[in-house]
Amino acid sequence: MSATILDGRVVAAAVQEEVAARTAALQERGVMPGLATVLVGDDPASHVYVRNKRRTAEKVGITSYRHDLSASISQHEVASLLDDLSDDPGVHGILLQLPLPGDLDGEAAVMHIDPAKDADGLHPVNLGNLMLDRPGLRPCTPSGALRILDHYGIETEGANVVVVGRSFLVGRPLAVMLGGKDRNATVTLAHSRTTGLKQLCATADILVAAVGHPGMIEGDWVKPGATVIDVGINRTDEGLVGDVDFIEVVEVAGAITPVPGGVGPMTIAMLMSNTITAAEAF
Ligand code: NAP
Repeated sequence: MSATILDGRVVAAAVQEEVAARTAALQERGVMPGLATVLVGDDPASHVYVRNKRRTAEKVGITSYRHDLSASISQHEVASLLDDLSDDPGVHGILLQLPLPGDLDGEAAVMHIDPAKDADGLHPVNLGNLMLDRPGLRPCTPSGALRILDHYGIETEGANVVVVGRSFLVGRPLAVMLGGKDRNATVTLAHSRTTGLKQLCATADILVAAVGHPGMIEGDWVKPGATVIDVGINRTDEGLVGDVDFIEVVEVAGAITPVPGGVGPMTIAMLMSNTITAAEAF
């Protein structure tokens, strides 16, 4: 039997509706929520991501301020722009599109974003708050994946979860969020040095793939009836594909996110949600 499709576009639309209502409430109080986007260089994929983020911001009533910078800009100039945006009272959220090109250091640049305006939730202060179970802006992609589970009523309490991929952007924060006291999943965080990965994945009630290898998770890696969250976005000759072999896994899993149309739209929706949360706290 085919799995239930967890439609990220539907969930993202619901989040955007909520954000639009919160934006309108702020505007009534005279606060005009603003998101600054900072894009460095000419990477086509980064341009598409930032354009989609700006479009979504306009759609929900958030003013976006565009800063497109040449790849030849210095680390100091990027830092100085982020310092200025952090001090700008019209800017409530700052998005620095990562990765930065060439020798520019994205992690060092993020340190120049005021944590209260860190719309991506990747500043060490926000990641630290996550580790401590304290309030703070949470990373967008993991929050988006969890929001899909919530929307479809998929319980994490007591679930055995395997997250494949330990990046600071996706896998690691997602594992912490799932294992936190409000989610209570039992989480295994797997990576390229994990042994017996296929057998491990096959034990998961909820399996998350955040690896960057097209179709790596095959049908026999998945426990029948499991929920599969495919975070991967891989550009191939056949178009965008995830880290999960969708055609095989959809016949085994109980529920699955497609690519495109799964976690991807949620990342943008949660960026908007973080921007409004930042503006409300201003
Ligand atoms: P990343 O920084 O390259 O991290 C990849 C992770 O996968 C690493 O932890 C790596 O392990 C692990 N890995 C690599 N090969 C593996 C293997 N054969 N077996 C097990 N683990 C393996 O990537 P990322 O930024 O997390 O992104 C992962 C994927 O998600 C990409 O396709 C990316 O495009 C996509 N993504 C999507 C969204 C969205 O909005 N949907 C957002 C961000 C990223 P090691 O740590 O041992 O190297």
